[in-house]
Amino acid sequence: MMLLGPAVPLLLLCAAAIWYQWRSNVEFVHDALMDSANVIAFALDRDAERSKAILETLAASQLIDARDWRAFHKLASAAVSREQGFIALTEPSGAQPVRTMIPYGDSPPVNPIALGAAAADIEWNGRRLPLSSQGLAKRVFETGKIANSGVYYGVSVKKPVVSIGVPVVRDGKVVYVLILGYPADHLVSLVASAAQPQARVTIIDSDGRIVARNINPGEGIGVRVNDQTLAVIRENEKGTREGRNLNGEETVGAFRRMQLTDWTVYASIPKTIAYARARDAVTIWVTISLLVFGAGLVATRRLWGEVAPPLVALGHSAQAIQRGEALRLPRTRIVEINELTRLLTEAASWEKREREEIVKRVAAEESERATRDLMGQLVLSESRFRTLFEQSGVGIASVDLDTNRFVLVNRRMCEITGYTAEELLQRTFFDITHPADLDKDSRAMMALAAGCEAYETEKRYIRKDGSMRWVELHVRRFPAAGEGSNVSFAAVIDVTSRKQAEFALKQADQRKDEFLATLAHELRNPLAPIRNGLEIIRQRADDTAQVTEVRAMMERQVKHIVRLVDDLLDVSRISTGRIQLRKAAVDVREIARSAMEGWRPALARDGHDGVLTLDSHALMVDGDAARLRQIVDNLLDNAIKYSDRPGRVELSAARRGGRVVICVTDSGIGIPRDQLRSIFELFSQVRDGAQAGGLGIGLHLVRKLVELHGGSVRVESEGAGAGSRFTVELPLMQSQKAPAAAAPRAIPAAGRLGILIVDDNADAANSLAMLVEAFGHDVTTAFSGEEALAKAAACPPSVVLLDLGMPGMDGYAVARKMREMPSLAEVCIVAVSGWGQAEDRERTAQAGFSEHLVKPVDPAELEHLIASLSHERV
Ligand code: ADP
Repeated sequence: MMLLGPAVPLLLLCAAAIWYQWRSNVEFVHDALMDSANVIAFALDRDAERSKAILETLAASQLIDARDWRAFHKLASAAVSREQGFIALTEPSGAQPVRTMIPYGDSPPVNPIALGAAAADIEWNGRRLPLSSQGLAKRVFETGKIANSGVYYGVSVKKPVVSIGVPVVRDGKVVYVLILGYPADHLVSLVASAAQPQARVTIIDSDGRIVARNINPGEGIGVRVNDQTLAVIRENEKGTREGRNLNGEETVGAFRRMQLTDWTVYASIPKTIAYARARDAVTIWVTISLLVFGAGLVATRRLWGEVAPPLVALGHSAQAIQRGEALRLPRTRIVEINELTRLLTEAASWEKREREEIVKRVAAEESERATRDLMGQLVLSESRFRTLFEQSGVGIASVDLDTNRFVLVNRRMCEITGYTAEELLQRTFFDITHPADLDKDSRAMMALAAGCEAYETEKRYIRKDGSMRWVELHVRRFPAAGEGSNVSFAAVIDVTSRKQAEFALKQADQRKDEFLATLAHELRNPLAPIRNGLEIIRQRADDTAQVTEVRAMMERQVKHIVRLVDDLLDVSRISTGRIQLRKAAVDVREIARSAMEGWRPALARDGHDGVLTLDSHALMVDGDAARLRQIVDNLLDNAIKYSDRPGRVELSAARRGGRVVICVTDSGIGIPRDQLRSIFELFSQVRDGAQAGGLGIGLHLVRKLVELHGGSVRVESEGAGAGSRFTVELPLMQSQKAPAAAAPRAIPAAGRLGILIVDDNADAANSLAMLVEAFGHDVTTAFSGEEALAKAAACPPSVVLLDLGMPGMDGYAVARKMREMPSLAEVCIVAVSGWGQAEDRERTAQAGFSEHLVKPVDPAELEHLIASLSHERV
């Protein structure tokens, strides 16, 4: 079937050629027949024209007008003799005065008009023929035009004839009809001479009768053609057709109606003859076509055998190209297929290139998109880290390990070093490192450059303004060793404050150690004379003068110790903010005067000149008189202590603007300039001055107390040996209150009281008992809480001097128990304790104590307290 596919067009081509051959041959036959019919019709028309011309010439003859029928008979006979026809002159009545077929004067055998009207016919040679010219004369009379007849039986000539009639017109009126008739045989010869050899030519009248024919004319004349033929020739002027002749033979014919007559020339030829040539041509063409087709089939089959496999292979190759697989291309002898193969190979390589291009393009686009995404993430990440980097509270710096230059610094790093980023990037890290740290730092950096991953250190930077900063460095090589670039990243933390705090702590610690050593020294100092004094009293008790002197010395030493302890407690209170000033309007002049008086003995003893200069007006301040006295005492004590003998100590108090200025000036050892600021620090002592004694808390206390009063203190000294001047400035009181009257401490009249002294320290208890007994009271001692309760219950005292810190039942518990005992409900319980803080006092008050005395108890204060109690009881 595949092979027939391409053969179909060839088959169609062959069929078309054969069809064309057949049609051309048939048309040729038709044309030839038509030509025959035309030629014969033309010849017959010429003959009829001639007849018409003869008749019209005769019709014009004057012989007719003259009705010279004889002469006209003669003329007419002469006109048709050559034509073997006859002429008859017919009158409207049908009478024929002239008839050339019979001699003039013979009676005519028939009246043609009458015969026409009768439509009579006659049997002739086995066929029936009309007897007249079928009303020819009548028709011409009626129409006035030339007309012809069909074939009819000529009565005069006794054979089939045909005739043609023309009107004889006189004065516009048809007066006669001239008829020319002639035997049908005459036409047969004409037809026979003009017809083609094999053609059968038939002249058919309008009635369908055969007028003449070339083949067997005698048998045909007057016979009627079949109805189909008659119908065709009546409807058409001319044409070709296939049909059957009177013998039933199949024929091919062409017909043509004549111009002058209404006869039709019908030329036909038997189909077998007519189409013989066409059949031959078709046969030849069919044969040739079959041969060509067969040869084509064979060739196609062979070609197919050669073409199909490579084509299939090419098809597979095309699919392989689509799939991007390797090609298996066929090799053939067919140039076109080889060309196709070559084109396919090119297409494959093009396709491959295209695929590779697409793959590359897609990969490039993918890569570009991925890069774009990555860049986006990178930018985001970079921005986050940039923000983190810049906003970090820790300095960050990157240093190129080859050049030691900064390559990256953040804002904090700039703040720490005081340089801008641009300035830092032009420097190496050595440029800003403290010279003392350079060695250590460069060693660490060299180790990092050599492969060490990280190190941590503390060092100092010299800032742009020359100041120094301590920093903690966390340095890491980036990236790790062996991974390319050679830089370090350092986190830089400013630890200056911590270092300063550490330094201060260290100094404070050092001062504390010095203080403890000094304290021990300071305590031993007064203890030594006290011990000596005791020994002197033991040995020389009888020597009153000496005992008095020794006692005075011992009192001074005890006072000194008490003051030391008081100062220490005050410092503690001030540093914890628990000191409270009992403020009142105080005249500083009074403070200065009494202080100077207090220190007169010491000045005199050391040979110093004591000078007091006071303002003539009152110098009122809103202050705590005791604390103000403490300030002045401290300054005078130092002035005396740090002055070489004999020296000069001046105390002045004056008004300056809105302030009261107190100055203590001495001509003593002076203070080195670099220590002028620090001597007010706690435990601060000028090294050289340490030998003079002291704990290094006096000036600290002075400054704090002055500040509590809203004032300030400063020191001036020209240096060692140049003396010192301490200046205290206090705000002058605006509205001067009346100075608190210094109530004289009148000791009330003493009554004898029963006093219970309780202390686990027997010496303390006994010495206090001796003191109180000396005041004139009855004393009982107890050395524990239980013992105290028992003795109090047994003999309720008026006053209980109760130690707080005792093993077992402490002072608080004892006081509470006593308060629960009805007999002791009114007793005055006085706490005697080393603890004298505000909260201690508060606690004793809550426990039911009436008073609170701090050890060592001031004898005068104790005496005064007991005296006032006894006074209350009186
Ligand atoms: P202390 O005198 O108990 O050592 P201070 O706080 O009173 O403690 O004094 C601190 C230091 O100041 C003293 O150790 C001394 O070196 C120095 N100083 C104080 N006053 C004078 C002074 N008037 N002249 C010289 N040095 C003084």
